[in-house]
Amino acid sequence: MRLKKYTYRKTKAGNWTEVFQNPCQVTVRSFQTGTVKINRRGTLNPDHPQAGDIREEELEVPILAYWVHHEEKGDFLLDAGLDASYILDPHGGLEGSAVDEFKLGEHENVSYHIRDNNIKLKTVFLSHLHADHAAGVRELPKNISYVVSKGEYGVYQPDVHGDFLEGLEELYEMDFSQATELPHLGPCVDLLGDGSLWAISTPGHTPGHISFLVNGMEGPVLLGMDAAFIHENLERGVAPSDYTWDVEMAQDTLEKIIEFLREYPQVRVGAGHEHLK
Ligand SMILES: [Zn+2]
Repeated sequence: MRLKKYTYRKTKAGNWTEVFQNPCQVTVRSFQTGTVKINRRGTLNPDHPQAGDIREEELEVPILAYWVHHEEKGDFLLDAGLDASYILDPHGGLEGSAVDEFKLGEHENVSYHIRDNNIKLKTVFLSHLHADHAAGVRELPKNISYVVSKGEYGVYQPDVHGDFLEGLEELYEMDFSQATELPHLGPCVDLLGDGSLWAISTPGHTPGHISFLVNGMEGPVLLGMDAAFIHENLERGVAPSDYTWDVEMAQDTLEKIIEFLREYPQVRVGAGHEHLK
C-alpha cells in the first residue's frame, strides 16, 4: 500500500461564527455497527482530580460510523465500524491475545447500512485506526479514497491488531501542520471546500486522532469521535484514560472541545460511543 498526501485548500474562514453563518445542504446520520464493553473506570480517567470516586462498572456501548450526505458533493463515511466477520466471531477472524472483542448482530455490519441506504461512497475519513473504527474497511469498496491523519498509520500495528486496510492500494494522509488554526480547536481542514464538513486535529487518544464537524442547515454537529467516549467525559471535564495513547494530551484536547462548546452553545456534540443526542 502506498501512502499519499491528501491535498486540501486552506480555509479563508477566520472563526467559527463565520462558518456557522453559512450552513450547507449536508446531513449526518449514525449507523450502529455492533457494541463493545468498556469500563466506566478508565472511560473516565480515575486519576483526574475532578474524577471523584469512579467505580468499576461495565458499560456496553455502540460502535458507530457516520454517514454524511451532501446534496451536491455526494456521500461520505466517517469511520468504518465493523465488518460482517464479527457476526459469528467476536474477534472478527483475528488471532492473538491483543485482539479486541466486539458484538455484532445481523444486518448491523457497515456494508449492510451502505447498501440499505443506497449510498454511493466517495471517500472514507477515519478518525483513527483502532479496530472498532477501521475494521469495516475490509468490506467497503476499494476503488474510493481512504483518509487518515498523517502519523496515524505509523503507530498502527496490522500484525498485532489485524490488517483492516489490506487490499487498499493507497491511503491518503492529511497533514494538519499545514492547516488553518481556528479558535479553541486549533488546526482544522475544510474537507469539501465549502465549509460543510470539517476535520479537526484532536490528538491524545491516538497521535493523529481526528474529530469532525458537520455544518448543516439544522445546525452544526461536532463529532468528537474517541476524544470523548461518552457524553459524561464532556459533562465532567474528564477525558478517557483506557485505550489512550497520551492521557495528558487527551485531557488537553477534551478541554479545548469543552471551551469551544461553551463559546458556541448551538453546536450539538456527539461522543464516540454514544448515539447523537
Ligand atoms: Zn479508539
